[in-house]
Amino acid sequence: MKCRSGCGACCIALSISSPIPGMPEGKPAGVRCLQLSAENLCLLYRKPERPAVCVNLKASRQMCGSNRGEALQYLRDLEEATKPASF
Ligand code: SF4
Ligand code: SF4
Repeated sequence: MKCRSGCGACCIALSISSPIPGMPEGKPAGVRCLQLSAENLCLLYRKPERPAVCVNLKASRQMCGSNRGEALQYLRDLEEATKPASF
């Protein structure tokens, strides 16, 4: 499927460990990317500064669901299931 324009769920819910312009340490899960516009569009789209992880992330029915709320829920659950254990 194609990425739903104006969704931006993965730009908020996912953690990104590589540097993003304005966020040199990347971003934690649940934090809005500084490069996400008010319209939930990537300000770095097609620019070389866009992190490789973002370029390579492909929309899928499983991840994106049928609306933004479903995508946010799926991605939150995924982050929770894959976060490092704390001892
Ligand atoms: S969750 Fe899917 S539809 Fe939403 S911004 Fe990410 S790739 Fe696009
Ligand atoms: S750089 Fe763009 S695609 Fe990547 S998380 Fe930020 S807004 Fe989303």
